[in-house]
Amino acid sequence: MPLVNAKEMMEKAREGHYAVGAFNINNLEWTKAILQTAQELKAPVMLGVSEGANKYMTGYKVVAEMVKAMIETLNITVPVALHLDHGTYEGAQKALEAGYSSVMFDGSHYDIEENIQKTKEIVALAKKKGATVEAEVGSIGGEEDGVTGRGEVADPKQCKMIADLGIDMLAAGIGNIHGQYPANWQGLDFDALEKIKATCGNMPLVLHGGTGIPEDMIKKAISLGVCKINVNTECQLYFAEATRKYIEAGKDKEKKGYDPRKLLAPGTEAIKEIVKIKMEMFGCVGKAE
Ligand SMILES: [Zn+2]
Repeated sequence: MPLVNAKEMMEKAREGHYAVGAFNINNLEWTKAILQTAQELKAPVMLGVSEGANKYMTGYKVVAEMVKAMIETLNITVPVALHLDHGTYEGAQKALEAGYSSVMFDGSHYDIEENIQKTKEIVALAKKKGATVEAEVGSIGGEEDGVTGRGEVADPKQCKMIADLGIDMLAAGIGNIHGQYPANWQGLDFDALEKIKATCGNMPLVLHGGTGIPEDMIKKAISLGVCKINVNTECQLYFAEATRKYIEAGKDKEKKGYDPRKLLAPGTEAIKEIVKIKMEMFGCVGKAE
């Protein structure tokens, strides 16, 4: 199946009361592990790519072409959306130009008028390309590629203003944080989520910072309208842990254990493991059958 935008997968998730996992990719191994797991579990999936990861992989076009070719070569039949994560105004345009099927335009650091104006422009461009748009209101806590947030909670009125611009998904801060959660984290703000849901109606909501949010909170968030959950840090932690174990066990010094295909294999398998855990938790397993 060629790349799809996120519209249908979001609608099905909303109707079916589950969430689609959006997993960030960093390289070929990451991409392959996530696509294979989605296929094995018959789950729709979104591949998230930050602007930093795009740069690391040499550019939007390289990423888009790699993902498209991999879907074809691995015979992936579940729906896959290639999604720019936390895109800037310029980045979102470049990603759409390169063939991304979905983009997040993160205008949350602009004042609301500028966020609205720029989101509108990205929506118009995306519509021409048949791509979907995620917009963001307020700030989500933590740090991602140098962008810091304060764990703010979004204002439902502003959410409604952005939701009405023709976007397909809305990321709104509800006390969630990027990266690892501090020990004194207060948990998700479900009152805020309910208010946002009440004002934005059917708009699929996106939960960023999916790493380490307890399962009961994830399930409650899904019941309150969250249709997409972003997971980034947890895959990195699993990858690093498995790779470290391999090195610490001295396996890179046994036979040809230094071969990158062997060296990166445990980390790649570990990504599959955590993607599976998350997909089961989000309820999206078997939804692409
Ligand atoms: Zn995010």
